[in-house]
Amino acid sequence: MPVYEYEHLHDDCVLCDYRFAAVQGVDEPPLEFCPSCGLEVRRVVSQISVVTTQSFDAHIAAKKGFTTWKRSGMGTWEKVAGDGVDYIVGSDGDKAAVTEKSAKVVDLSE
Ligand SMILES: [Zn+2]
Repeated sequence: MPVYEYEHLHDDCVLCDYRFAAVQGVDEPPLEFCPSCGLEVRRVVSQISVVTTQSFDAHIAAKKGFTTWKRSGMGTWEKVAGDGVDYIVGSDGDKAAVTEKSAKVVDLSE
């Protein structure tokens, strides 16, 4: 799965680095909020996502200051390497919102 790089919209995050990387499927929507601190983020085009899609090594990235989380289930992310929390678990409200969104997509395709 491709690796996407994100940056915080505002550089006032004290919990984590300004930029981080996340492993996501191509059909997954971009993250809107930092999984570590919850502040707004945006996806940025990076050399990592272009060059090392196949051979990305989260542990090498961690040495360069990036944190990588991998989606391990619905609303659940598990840290692969780097600083930051080990698990990110969406609230029931978050999951319900995603389910609702997915249902709408299915409806549109019919
Ligand atoms: Zn953050």
